[in-house]
Amino acid sequence: MRRAKNFMKLYLPSISVNEGLARSAVASFVAQINPTIEEISDIKCAVSEAVTNSIVHGYKYKEGQIYIGVKYYEDKTVVIEVIDKGCGIEDIDVAMAPLFTTDTSGERSGMGFAVMQTFMDKLEVKSRLNQGVRVTMIKKLG
Ligand code: ATP
Ligand code: MG
Repeated sequence: MRRAKNFMKLYLPSISVNEGLARSAVASFVAQINPTIEEISDIKCAVSEAVTNSIVHGYKYKEGQIYIGVKYYEDKTVVIEVIDKGCGIEDIDVAMAPLFTTDTSGERSGMGFAVMQTFMDKLEVKSRLNQGVRVTMIKKLG
């Protein structure tokens, strides 16, 4: 595997204010490789959706840890991981389908994964029930 040119690892408690922090931190890090405004905005949206999912679904607003890893390579490929140790997802294919949501409050539209998929080049979701979720998102800039 080729070596990342730079990387960042971030651990944050699963509280709502950290959604914005995670988004800005990843954007600042990625700024090193001169992204376009659109690329930065895409990445911010995707990170926001993944982190929100960990807070809202994974930990159900209870305390937990969210791990965010970002790295980029010489060719401007950015790899972002968002990992939680929350409740996990029973059926990933079902969960990733547009408009699917387990939310019953009416606040969620079930579009988070679709947003991640649209704004990034590649999206991979892995999960084990009751062990958590790992979302890996890849985008090649430039
Ligand atoms: P929206 O993102 O539009 O507010 P949503 O969060 O329900 O709504 P998605 O982000 O697409 O929609 O997620 C779909 C479903 O996948 C969620 O309703 C939830 O059941 C499950 N899910 C997503 N992320 C996680 C996670 N980190 N842990 C547990 N379940 C998750
Ligand atoms: Mg969501």
